[in-house]
Amino acid sequence: MKEKLKKWLGIDKKSLYVQNYFYAVNMRASIYMSAIVIVLEIWMILHLTKTILELPPGIAKPFAYYFHKYYLNYLVLMGSAGCMLTCSLRFLKGRKDNSTIGTVVKWIFSFICIYFGLTISYNDYAKGEQILTFLTMELFVVCLLTWRPVISFLILSSSYLIFYFRIDALPPPNGTEIGTTTATQINMFTMYLSTLMFSFANYNRTLQQAMKDENLEKLNTHLGNLNEHLSRISVEDELTGIHNMLYFRNEAEKLLGYVTTDKSNIIFLFFDIENFKSYNEKYGFHEGNELLIKIAHMMENTFQGSLVSRYSDDHFVVLTSFEGCEDKIETLSHEIKCCQGEVHLDLKCGAYRPDESETDPSLACDRARFACNSIKKHYDCCYQIYDKLLENRFQLKQYIVNHIDTAIENGYIKVFYQPVVSTQSREICGLEALARWKDPNYGLLPPGAFIGILEEYRLIHKLDQCMIELVCKDYQYAQEHHLPFVPVSMNFSRLDFEVCDMSDFVSRMAENYHVPHNFLDIEITESALTEQQELLQNAVKNFRNTGYKVWLDDFGSGYSSLNVLKDYQFDVLKIDMKFLSGFTDNEKTKPILTNIVNLSRQLGMVSLTEGVETEEQFVFLRSIGCHRAQGYLFSKPIPLEELRNKIEAGELQIASEYLSAH
Ligand code: C2E
Ligand code: CA
Ligand code: CA
Repeated sequence: MKEKLKKWLGIDKKSLYVQNYFYAVNMRASIYMSAIVIVLEIWMILHLTKTILELPPGIAKPFAYYFHKYYLNYLVLMGSAGCMLTCSLRFLKGRKDNSTIGTVVKWIFSFICIYFGLTISYNDYAKGEQILTFLTMELFVVCLLTWRPVISFLILSSSYLIFYFRIDALPPPNGTEIGTTTATQINMFTMYLSTLMFSFANYNRTLQQAMKDENLEKLNTHLGNLNEHLSRISVEDELTGIHNMLYFRNEAEKLLGYVTTDKSNIIFLFFDIENFKSYNEKYGFHEGNELLIKIAHMMENTFQGSLVSRYSDDHFVVLTSFEGCEDKIETLSHEIKCCQGEVHLDLKCGAYRPDESETDPSLACDRARFACNSIKKHYDCCYQIYDKLLENRFQLKQYIVNHIDTAIENGYIKVFYQPVVSTQSREICGLEALARWKDPNYGLLPPGAFIGILEEYRLIHKLDQCMIELVCKDYQYAQEHHLPFVPVSMNFSRLDFEVCDMSDFVSRMAENYHVPHNFLDIEITESALTEQQELLQNAVKNFRNTGYKVWLDDFGSGYSSLNVLKDYQFDVLKIDMKFLSGFTDNEKTKPILTNIVNLSRQLGMVSLTEGVETEEQFVFLRSIGCHRAQGYLFSKPIPLEELRNKIEAGELQIASEYLSAH
């Protein structure tokens, strides 16, 4: 209630915005008001002077009389209007004067206006004239300017009362009655009420507008903050606070596009912190993040004035000038080593120098990254520039990723078969299907050229599925043409099981091409089995439950060979060829191989040694009871046709159990 009353009277506390708004409205209104007053007063002075000059000499009074009675009033009013005008103009021009000065001037000016109106109209009334000057001045002050209602009320009430009592004390013009007439009283009261109402309405309108503007302003500030926030997060890396790749690509693209950019002096750098994963494992995720933030800022400090962004995980990219960049990389590498703790962190950097025609920063980053990846695990090397050799490798990589689908569709993927022989009979008891890419541009590509890339891009399942189908087709062809066929083992990647349901796919193919399950074997490399254990354990179980044999490939090549044997059940243990590499010189080879073969027997697995190149190796393997052997001694991987020719020529024999077609 109290608040409402305060509000109604206009004595409630106003926000700074509203106070300033009122001040601005008044300053603007004062311009017109003071300008009109000045013009009016000049006119009055001129008019009065003319009248005085035209008076016949005897009648004219001394100048002092006129000065006191008229000129002084005019000059005072004109002076105050001049001050008011100066204040308003200064405000409009944006001068930050103290608002109390403006307010005081406004008060003085208003007071003088009303005083002037009062005196002039009092004189006029005494002469029987109308009281228009008083009314005009009242209107000027309370309606052009905006006052709080209580102030308008005080100004109007006091001035009207003073005026009323003054004219009421005058002898009336007709000389009969004393004081004002009833008509004058009513007229004055209505005038008073209407100016009061008008001033209230004016105040309320201005207040409404001020509040509306204030809300808009608040909303704008809010939106502005939001926009600022949005634009900041769109260019900032969330974790490290340095720029993200969106920003990097945009800025780099601009830089590459400028004609003024000296491209011969710029270089793209791609950084990888090798072993960062181990750091995370040892110290935890939080510490890992802290270190990344630290490294990000070290990068920014080292490459001041360059474009520095986080690429992903523990990878960063920098666009900087070529001159002196190697020294900076070295400094950075040294700084990072200082915060590595007990984990050995190694900074690797790949660099790419764009040529004149280069416009795509993403491709430039890819190239620098490619150069960086080429020195992974090269402990003596931390910096590699993208050169012609890498260029060729990079292009082949792009080609492989972009053309795997067409290669499959166009039949460029071929199956080469390498025989597996029984050590007892030397006869073929199996074939390993090995992929080859017979490309019209690149010629015959070995798997080493594309398997890793397809794995990196998670496309390997496409190739493996294609291989499965091709093998099944070869089986079907042999069936239809009454040709002998032996079980085929196929290589699977760990990623095959992550991307699709491989056992389901193999079964569908076997069904489509009527291949008995015991004619398809699954090879999984040992290194694949250390991650995603549950997924792979289930996959192995599934295959075995549906009648496929699962082989452990490359046994002994990884770090946890024995654990793999403990956690999984395999049908065939394929001993890695590196055990045979030191066969003649290393005396430990034989006992190791003997023990692996024994172990495999004890665990109920068939043993197979790959990479057999000499008769001596073969004889030894047979002597220790290794069941099967595979290697160049018998045959390299070759197309099926060629293999059949060899068999026909008597160079190779098929185990009798497979001789008649199934
Ligand atoms: P892997 O499964 O260990 O295959 C054996 C590799 O050793 C083959 O190389 C083969 O040609 C080679 N090799 C066989 N006998 C000898 C020998 O006596 N001496 C020497 N020095 N090497 C021998 P290849 O065909 O180049 O295959 C390389 C690797 O590519 C394979 O190793 C396998 O891991 C992978 N791979 C091949 N085909 C496929 C496929 O269709 N899918 C998947 N996922 N991987 C495949
Ligand atoms: Ca294999
Ligand atoms: Ca192998």
